[in-house]
Amino acid sequence: MAKENKQFIEDDLTEIFSSGYTGKSHIGTRLLNMITDSKREQCPPFPRQIQVETTNICNHNCNFCAYTLMERPKRHIDRDLFKRIVTESYECGAREIGLFAGAEPLTCKWLDEYISFCKETGYEYQYISTNGALVGHDKFKKILDAGLNSIKFSVNGGDRETYKAVHGKDNFDKVIDNIRFVSAYREKVSQDVYLGVSFVGMPHTIASFDNLKSLISDYVDEILYYEASNQSGQMSEFPDPPYRDCHLPFNKAHFSLEGYMKACCNDYENLLAVESISNMSVKDAWHSKRFRDLRQRHIADDLEGTLCANCIRASKCKPQPLNTELVQHKTFWREEG
Ligand code: SF4
Repeated sequence: MAKENKQFIEDDLTEIFSSGYTGKSHIGTRLLNMITDSKREQCPPFPRQIQVETTNICNHNCNFCAYTLMERPKRHIDRDLFKRIVTESYECGAREIGLFAGAEPLTCKWLDEYISFCKETGYEYQYISTNGALVGHDKFKKILDAGLNSIKFSVNGGDRETYKAVHGKDNFDKVIDNIRFVSAYREKVSQDVYLGVSFVGMPHTIASFDNLKSLISDYVDEILYYEASNQSGQMSEFPDPPYRDCHLPFNKAHFSLEGYMKACCNDYENLLAVESISNMSVKDAWHSKRFRDLRQRHIADDLEGTLCANCIRASKCKPQPLNTELVQHKTFWREEG
């Protein structure tokens, strides 16, 4: 965001899913556009936005996050596979890319190379969400210089003690310093980069939110509040998300680091993976029978047995994978009680 247009915004993104959302947040508006542009049909056009799991490794263990329960082997994406996904998706019409999914993208040491590659390919908008605690100023400089358009820091405690209790690491001061560095650097080089902070709130952390705002509101474009929710049904101790219709399978393509097209970036065990692109093109995977069937189940409200039912229909059944061949590790599931 250009400095002259900078206007600090605080927004509760929980409200975006109610019909009366009137917020002006950059990320809120993008989410809203994704929802309103979505065509709820079995074979929608290839989406403008993709999200690629560059790594499934995280250096933190936030206590609201299903990452802490993930059984899938941890590693980074193969570089050639990343480039194939990016190139093929661009040829299909994708122009925006998130280079992360449910973990910490800065654990991947090739992230700046990936950002440069996406930019050279022609992507118009590249974004990440990071806890911002793993690296120092030099790495942030590198990813901004490589052409990143948007960076959101995920800071889920508003003071050192609360942060440590939530994230499991004593990195609050380092993260605040990195946020202020990114703010100063983008102004120094006059770079049009969005800088935001998100805070996932829980009853015992909300009291620290004001302190976080006082420390960073002069440096960032917006601070976004979300209530902790059930993480696609994988954290059933938290409330269900405040929506019943999900638009992800219709208007965004997700890729796991194994090269699987999937419906959701929050699906830690690939239960919503439909096809492997080792067997077919990206375009064919988007239009595959398994993906069409999942969309039809969303349209017909027939989700029982899928992870989506646990996410938005309060189901407590054990979710079955959409493609058993893509779930070779032990499938995550916690029995109630
Ligand atoms: S689990 Fe299904 S319903 Fe929930 S966010 Fe993911 S795709 Fe949407």
